[in-house]
Amino acid sequence: MSGEEDLIDYSDDEQLDTKETVPAVSADAKKVDANGASATQGADKKGSYVGIHSTGFRDFLLKPELLRAIVDCGFEHPSEVQQVCIPQSILGTDVLCQAKSGLGKTAVFVLTTLQQVDPVPGETSVLVMCHTRELAYQIKNEYARFSKYMPDVKTAVFYGGTPMQKDIEVLKNKEQHPHIIVATPGRLNALVRDKHLRLGSVKVFVLDECDKMLEQIDMRRDVQEIFRATPQQKQVMMFSATLSQDIRPVCKKFMQSPLEIYVDDETKLTLHGLQQYYIKLEEKEKNRKLNDLLDQLQFNQVIIFVKSTQRATELNRLLTECNFPSIAVHSGIPQEERIARYKQFKEFKMRICVATDVFGRGIDIERINLAINYDLPADPDSYLHRVGRAGRFGTKGLSISFVSSKEDAEVLDKIMERFEVSLDPFPEGGIDAATYMNT
Ligand code: ADP
Repeated sequence: MSGEEDLIDYSDDEQLDTKETVPAVSADAKKVDANGASATQGADKKGSYVGIHSTGFRDFLLKPELLRAIVDCGFEHPSEVQQVCIPQSILGTDVLCQAKSGLGKTAVFVLTTLQQVDPVPGETSVLVMCHTRELAYQIKNEYARFSKYMPDVKTAVFYGGTPMQKDIEVLKNKEQHPHIIVATPGRLNALVRDKHLRLGSVKVFVLDECDKMLEQIDMRRDVQEIFRATPQQKQVMMFSATLSQDIRPVCKKFMQSPLEIYVDDETKLTLHGLQQYYIKLEEKEKNRKLNDLLDQLQFNQVIIFVKSTQRATELNRLLTECNFPSIAVHSGIPQEERIARYKQFKEFKMRICVATDVFGRGIDIERINLAINYDLPADPDSYLHRVGRAGRFGTKGLSISFVSSKEDAEVLDKIMERFEVSLDPFPEGGIDAATYMNT
């Protein structure tokens, strides 16, 4: 039966996080084209792809059934990262891609793997891994949207915290056996190790939030074991909004002369439509302040980040008692309930979500236009990912971070330095909702 890894929920690092976080190294952005030469056009001048290169998804020469799904999803123009990556990825090139949150990295690998997949019964040819179960679930849904007109292509999602027997049954049944698997590494590794899943037919290996997956030792070990179980000849693609100089060589060890795409200079990673403020206050003033903000500010949906599961539970209880429509999502909640809450929030049944870093990366909920760091994260990268939950795909948003200690103040300085962004104190009189609400 499954090993212990299966039970590990990597997002547990949210709890009582006493370990030192590696300070982020600021990076020089470089852009390299498919031949390895420095890009001279397009990437440096934002927006210049439009007009020179393809301006529509049609130009990528995707399968008609994919193009139909793209139209159904309401995608009109490829984003910059899509314009740069898709043409290369569909040719089987290895890709290491860093681009801002919310600008469509998921669609890059979902579309290009669907383009390439040739469904053979009983064989898995695409493997996608990410660090949290909610993200895996979300990516699986993206596959469902885009493979709408590809009825032969089967996708499955596997993650821990749910009965493994269900996964085993899916894999045993040739009719149901997925061609594309989205998974978290612990469960996937357990399935491979126990020989329920063979990876000898894998042609594409994708890591989303790759820095997170390779920085954390337990997760990296699982990823490596899974990687070794796949054929040597395959395409490898990795994505993240943050890729420090330190982690890039680690990623590249898995790849062969990858196309390296750093869409934005690291210092320009913050989102244009997002207004960012901070509030200096004492720890004991946080609840009061949060209450005021939630009363005063207009928002569609808000995500409030705290640093531990216990604080998430407590804060959520307080908010609920004050009649705020709030739910909590963290790794202390049973997995099925966690996904149920994610869905509730995504479907706009709740407007406030108190979360730990389990929701800090990748989660795409379009109505979130306010992100509050009730507890400031310990490092600038996490900050960037968290506030990126507001202002998806170029929409407007607002973020407010509570700064209550000397350590917080230091993190705030690092954020401003690393991303060359100036965060102002939140104005006493509040701010005009029209500046961060999409109309
Ligand atoms: P990332 O992975 O870069 O953080 P996502 O892939 O989650 O970003 O995309 C953010 C949101 O933008 C999603 O809701 C996605 O459906 C939407 N999106 C992606 N590409 C396009 C596009 N070309 N046109 C319109 N919406 C898009």
